[in-house]
Amino acid sequence: MTARDEGVLAGIARRLARLRSVPTGVLAEIVADGGACLQVSAEDGPPRWLHEAGNDRELAARLCRGCPVQQECLELELRMFGDQTAGVWGALGEDDRRALVPHWRRLTGEPSPPVIGPEHAHREPGRGER
Ligand code: SF4
Repeated sequence: MTARDEGVLAGIARRLARLRSVPTGVLAEIVADGGACLQVSAEDGPPRWLHEAGNDRELAARLCRGCPVQQECLELELRMFGDQTAGVWGALGEDDRRALVPHWRRLTGEPSPPVIGPEHAHREPGRGER
């Protein structure tokens, strides 16, 4: 991780700080209502390219492109799973989100979340699958 990467992550954490006062349940509703990946209907199924997207960073860029609730999704994921975060959420892959956690914690004072099992990790769109 370069100093530039650290600067980018610190900037993301600062932007997320505006959501600090939003209750977690409200964030969950915002993401459930507006998340682009959640608009995929059961009949449509996941997009065909989903498993061809390469690494998590590439998948996040493709899956979350244009999603109007990226920041809410990212904040929600960090609150729920902290450094146990897995898969693609909030337009970031898990390595990037885990690197973001210390910056986010410094600004939010969030304690470590409970350790959640790996079953929440996925590479399928749809937070509702958790
Ligand atoms: S995972 Fe990506 S597309 Fe789905 S709600 Fe979160 S930011 Fe939006």
